[in-house]
Amino acid sequence: MKQKLRPVRMAELVADSLRRQIFEGKHVEGLPKEEELRERFGVAKSSMREALLILETEGLITVRRGNVGGSIVHLPTIDSAAYSLALSMSAIATTLGDVADALLALEPMCAVLCSRREDRAEELVPELDRLNKEYEDSIEEGVEAIKISREFHETVVEGCGNPAFSIVTSALARVWSAHEVDWAMEATLSGTFPSLEDRQRALEWHMEVAEGIKAGDAAVSEKVAAHLREAQSHTLANRRNHRVDVAQLRRRVTSGP
Ligand SMILES: [Zn+2]
Repeated sequence: MKQKLRPVRMAELVADSLRRQIFEGKHVEGLPKEEELRERFGVAKSSMREALLILETEGLITVRRGNVGGSIVHLPTIDSAAYSLALSMSAIATTLGDVADALLALEPMCAVLCSRREDRAEELVPELDRLNKEYEDSIEEGVEAIKISREFHETVVEGCGNPAFSIVTSALARVWSAHEVDWAMEATLSGTFPSLEDRQRALEWHMEVAEGIKAGDAAVSEKVAAHLREAQSHTLANRRNHRVDVAQLRRRVTSGP
């Protein structure tokens, strides 16, 4: 069947051009006022407005109304990718068990990629060691320890060295983290939080993973998988069929770095 091609509108061309400029770092201070942009592009008011609306809908800018004018630029982050992912997951009834299984498949591969990075001794291992030290220092404080523990996992995932693999897995890991921290708070309140021994065991795993990455040992993959299975079992105990809840992500996005 013959498909009709939709003509590209002027607004889309302007939005494409502005988006490119944003990613090239040309608008770190924000976009100029609408009139100025209109003159620059030589387009009608309605096309300029629509172009800005496209970028606003994509979350790349916030148009400042009133006298101030111009737009604030927001570069996409892992948190924003995680939010979009969680939104789509919520729409297709994804469960925490699904997220856990997907991470179980992907995170060990990330650790192997980390262990192959030639610059890992400078770029990655010091950060993993620092997080393990912080975890050790906060091991008595349950929820704080969980947050640092999640940071360790996210560092492994983000540090794999392949941006495509990293962004997909990192976003997935953040979706999991948001629910795990929520679980940790609830478990602390109900007194069912994993014991100090459980946390010490997790720290040992993290140290072994950091050592495996440092040594360039591909067997780090099995270490990560075994640890994940154990760690996930706490969170999943009575939540495997819980749906991904995008509100958990919003809390994380709005609660600071
Ligand atoms: Zn862990």
